[in-house]
Amino acid sequence: MEYRFKRVVVKVGSNVLTRTDGSLDIARMVEIVSQIAALRDAGIEVLLVSSGAVASGRGVLHVSEALDDVSQRQLYSAVGQAKLINRYYDFFSSYGIVCGQVLTTKESLQLEDHYQNQRNCMTVMLEHGVIPVINENDTVSVTELMFTDNDELSGLVATMMHAQCLLLLSNVDGLYSGDPGSRDSRIIREVMAGDDVTGYVGKSKSTYGRGGMSAKCGIAGRTASEGIEVIIANGKRENIILSVLSDGYREVPCTRFLP
Ligand code: GLU
Repeated sequence: MEYRFKRVVVKVGSNVLTRTDGSLDIARMVEIVSQIAALRDAGIEVLLVSSGAVASGRGVLHVSEALDDVSQRQLYSAVGQAKLINRYYDFFSSYGIVCGQVLTTKESLQLEDHYQNQRNCMTVMLEHGVIPVINENDTVSVTELMFTDNDELSGLVATMMHAQCLLLLSNVDGLYSGDPGSRDSRIIREVMAGDDVTGYVGKSKSTYGRGGMSAKCGIAGRTASEGIEVIIANGKRENIILSVLSDGYREVPCTRFLP
């Protein structure tokens, strides 16, 4: 298959990786890893931004409802991130691919020397054929200084690493002209620079993650203005990554924000 890009950032949201009961969807992870392995075989460099730490920790531990939000996030992410990266490591290994963990904070992408340091880290990983699996370090990040969500983090990574495409995988097919559940709504296939999509965006928030369509579109517009194509697609669809990164994007539902 011919792909349209040489370096891509793939962001996988919590809702893609978790089942309705909040547990980690292993079959989905395997699906995603196998598609990334196919990209690698085709010579494409991939950086993976994966959410799901808090969600997978929540599936393991049951804590008192009295525990405050920050402590819950710290506890769940500490356990859940370990579980998540272990799975990724094993699944990538089965394709002969080495992945490595990058946990970061907003500060690490704001201060100049930290920024250079982060870029150096991901560059050296790619140079050695290692797939960076990136997430916010939810165990240490301070609430007021956190990324809005991993969409924001992935947009910054795409810009920092000069990726040609940022693929945001969530559990919706893309941006709709109205309520996605309504028969009258249609999917918006292309958003051009300067298009105002605020009228289309619903207020719904992600069930297991922190993001939502409004935040996604903001990040997508900003990232596209840096010259990077941004695609919003449904990570629960079979072969979606390979379809949208090739000419197959014409045949599957998705929204592309063009640079
Ligand atoms: N970093 C969070 C996690 O891994 C997800 C943040 C988000 O929802 O974007 O659980």
